[in-house]
Amino acid sequence: MRLHDKVAIVTGGASGIGEFTVREMVNQGAKVVIADFDDSRGLNLAEELGEQVSFIHVDVSQEDEVEAMVNHTVETFGKVDILFSNAGVGSIGSTHELTLEDWNKTISINLSGVFLCAKYALIEMVKQGSGSIINCASILGHVGQASTASYTAAKGGVVNLTRALALEYAAQGIRVNAVCPGYIKTPLLDQLDDAMLQHLESLHPLGRLGESHEVANAVVFLASDEASFITGANLMVDGGYTAQ
Ligand code: NAD
Repeated sequence: MRLHDKVAIVTGGASGIGEFTVREMVNQGAKVVIADFDDSRGLNLAEELGEQVSFIHVDVSQEDEVEAMVNHTVETFGKVDILFSNAGVGSIGSTHELTLEDWNKTISINLSGVFLCAKYALIEMVKQGSGSIINCASILGHVGQASTASYTAAKGGVVNLTRALALEYAAQGIRVNAVCPGYIKTPLLDQLDDAMLQHLESLHPLGRLGESHEVANAVVFLASDEASFITGANLMVDGGYTAQ
């Protein structure tokens, strides 16, 4: 019960990495708010997991909805100890064909959404004098990849935003870290064909894609008091991808 009595928000908690993190946090004793714009999956998961869990509809790119998400968490469970800022969308395609609208959409969810969630969670965490924020970055915050300009730029931003927040709030007892997954078998990869998936497997020294629970375990560790001297870190959960 490493998260006994802790209250967590998991954005993008209705699917993939977020869903497995919600499940593991509940197993470890936390109360969890699933914050997602997929109402159907989010509500079903909350119903399955029972009274330790609450669902709220949020689009993390909308400031008023993010503020309401944090208010809902405090009203329902009394505080905010942990934020896992995980909601994200993929974007693949040639940069010379990318519209400004598509660029802005990816940046507004994958980077500005992380800022907004941190901002409103920090308001509560500063009052409490404690907290743990984990941002979901990516290997693509550390290395480049062709035809993913907006996604890679956003994740690079998340990596350095994490460091900046860690330094700004360390003195107030708030830790801020990032997990950086390699390619993980989630619905985010649905747009890739089998040949591409096999190619991606071969890029990971462990010889396979990752599983959502392997990222969830790293998030729970960073959220817990076991990581009490870790802030500003990027925990690579990538099967060795970026060690090459
Ligand atoms: P997923 O598609 O299974 O889950 C993403 C969840 O985020 C969904 O439930 C979706 O409804 C939600 N979401 C999307 N936009 C949202 C918004 N604006 N507001 C609220 N919720 C929103 O994908 P996943 O693979 O579990 O991705 C989770 C995170 O992991 C993302 O940030 C992604 O970039 C990152 N990541 C994934 C991989 C991978 O290979 N799957 C690799 C590196 C990083």
